[in-house]
Amino acid sequence: MVEFKTRISKIVDYPAPDGPSTRVFEIPIPSGIPFSYVSGQFAMLGHDSVRLLANQNMLKFASYSISSSPTHPHVLEFCIGDGSPTGVSHCLLHSKVGEEIIVKGPFGKFMLDENAPEYVFLATGTGIAPMISMIRTLLNKNVKVPITLYFGFRYPSQYMYREELEMLAQKFSNFKLEIVASRPDEKWKHHSGHLQDVLMNYNSPNKMKTKVYLCGKPSVTEELIKFCIDTLKFPTENVLVEKW
Ligand SMILES: Cc1cc2nc3c(=O)[nH]c(=O)nc-3n(C[C@H](O)[C@H](O)[C@H](O)COP(=O)(O)OP(=O)(O)OC[C@H]3O[C@@H](n4cnc5c(N)ncnc54)[C@H](O)[C@@H]3O)c2cc1C
Repeated sequence: MVEFKTRISKIVDYPAPDGPSTRVFEIPIPSGIPFSYVSGQFAMLGHDSVRLLANQNMLKFASYSISSSPTHPHVLEFCIGDGSPTGVSHCLLHSKVGEEIIVKGPFGKFMLDENAPEYVFLATGTGIAPMISMIRTLLNKNVKVPITLYFGFRYPSQYMYREELEMLAQKFSNFKLEIVASRPDEKWKHHSGHLQDVLMNYNSPNKMKTKVYLCGKPSVTEELIKFCIDTLKFPTENVLVEKW
């Protein structure tokens, strides 16, 4: 485990019409810091202004999946949703470029297996974080097996990484996007409804060996695990989940 301080270098916000935004932000890994990780792992982040309620001398840290890829070193990226006003997420969602962040990590056993014959990535909301890290790693390494991302959220404005994902789907014929908004507008060109409605159509000769990676809010994640195992009949051991 490595611990270091750095400063926010880039922020992209994804506003929701009826609630808090989600945010993608980048922090550089200072030179000389040996922070190496596997796609899927997470880091713990702290900010000087967020202290434990019970002990103001101690920083509160919170866990965040790393959304950048180790194939793009020197920088870490995260996607965050809002939390309670005294927590780290709320602070990070209102931080500005240049503010200092304390990073500890990497942690976690949710890791990309680079040798699967096919990949299905299932993400809802900020659950896209570990998935985009894995997709970036596979495509940057020119892995040729079929890769499908099923990504669900409520409003079109919450479509994180839109440009990058659509560029990757154009560039790599083995990468397919299935994007689902539950509250689309009239301009929306992707799927509408729930992730399960679209996932229902998944079929592949590799199905029994496909690695299914799943991440998102706990309530949705539980439903999706059940759907993958009971309805789609993916072998339980191939359904890999990051529970938040
Ligand atoms: C492996 C992993 C990866 C994750 N990845 C992501 C991710 O990529 N993006 C994302 O958005 N979320 C992610 N999460 C979820 C995130 O870690 C939680 O939402 C976490 O609660 C956020 O911390 P917070 O400080 O904002 O606390 P809050 O979510 O605000 O609150 C959580 C709890 O902490 C209490 N609390 C709040 N403030 C304080 C305080 N100052 N002192 C003491 N207690 C307090 C609250 O009362 C509540 O009980 C991940 C979780 C895990 C386990």
